[in-house]
Amino acid sequence: MKTIGYAAHSSDAHMVPYHFERRDLRRNDVAIEILYSGVCHSDLHTVNGDWGPQPYPLVPGHEIVGRVIEVGSDVENYNVGDNVAVGCMVDSCQDCDQCHSHEEQFCRNGMTPTYGAPDRISGETTQGGYSKHIIVREEFVLSVPDALDISKAAPILCAGITTYSPLRSWNVTKGSRVGVIGLGGLGHMAVKLAVAMGAEVTVISRSSNKEEEAKAIGAKGILVSKDEDAMDAAASSFDFILDTVPVKHDVSVYTPLLDVDGTLTIVGQVGPMDEFMSWPLIGGRRRVAGSLIGGIKETQEVLDFCAEHNIHPECKIIKPSEINDAFEHLSKGDVAYRFVMDMSQLAEDAA
Ligand code: NAP
Ligand code: ZN
Repeated sequence: MKTIGYAAHSSDAHMVPYHFERRDLRRNDVAIEILYSGVCHSDLHTVNGDWGPQPYPLVPGHEIVGRVIEVGSDVENYNVGDNVAVGCMVDSCQDCDQCHSHEEQFCRNGMTPTYGAPDRISGETTQGGYSKHIIVREEFVLSVPDALDISKAAPILCAGITTYSPLRSWNVTKGSRVGVIGLGGLGHMAVKLAVAMGAEVTVISRSSNKEEEAKAIGAKGILVSKDEDAMDAAASSFDFILDTVPVKHDVSVYTPLLDVDGTLTIVGQVGPMDEFMSWPLIGGRRRVAGSLIGGIKETQEVLDFCAEHNIHPECKIIKPSEINDAFEHLSKGDVAYRFVMDMSQLAEDAA
């Protein structure tokens, strides 16, 4: 199938319109017309080459919502016209212990990311959601509940699951004291989800600039990480902290904020971190952990959870041609919401 998207042709190039082919439909494939595509900071890291060399031209995007336009002969759960979604993975071995326990993100044979990886059958490079169409095997397609506004659902597919999964893994519940470091795409979803789980949530931010946005989505307020007195006063006051900072940093600034036995889970920076002080860990049996997106079953769970609790990401809808501006904002970290591209604007845009 011929389609069009926005691609990076090298690590220092702007995103530009790109015509390319999607594979022919396999028997277990679903063909999707993409309606909305979220812009994750991981897309920017990837096209910038922060995580190593990439197979350019690369079409990023792993927060995808669309409509089924065709199904393969063996597809059982989707029909033409259904509202569906695709997240950060499009395949895995389906055969190892991790796949069997619905943790495909930890597939022993390596899951296939939505973009920038070889397809398990043809070897061609997977291309993501900054495009008009995508073809994905049925097992990696999610169902969008009717109660969700499809124009706002896309960020649940990465920002939602990446924050929901650790909140669940570390048993955040009614009364938990939760800190969220960084109020961006992931951070604002973490706040909304933790509040819906009954937690008392504080945003830990570089400044108080985003205080209004933090309170509007249910946070108690902002703890400014640069304010040493405020940080000292907040020592030992959190059960769980989710760290979404997208760059190398020192976790020792934050670990003293944990109460005894508390956990700080890193989901932001993927790669080297600053040296850290062991004393806050030793002196309070505190832990530093990590978490990667979430499995397909849990991704469906967070979509259903958002529908049930009427949670919608804060979205700024943009045209695909505005993607380079959106990347500029992400690199500055000055937004407390998600950019979501309206892909219906793509054809006119890119003509
Ligand atoms: P984002 O929208 O840009 O938000 C990141 C936030 O971090 C910013 O809004 C800012 O919040 C804060 N920040 C930015 N630069 C900082 C700095 N130099 N020092 C301290 N704080 C800083 O990004 P995102 O889409 O939420 O993604 C966040 C990170 O998670 C990225 O690195 C992304 O690759 C990663 N990620 C990981 C997974 C996973 O599975 N583990 C999945 C998706 C994304 P304040 O202004 O409030 O300080
Ligand atoms: Zn992402």
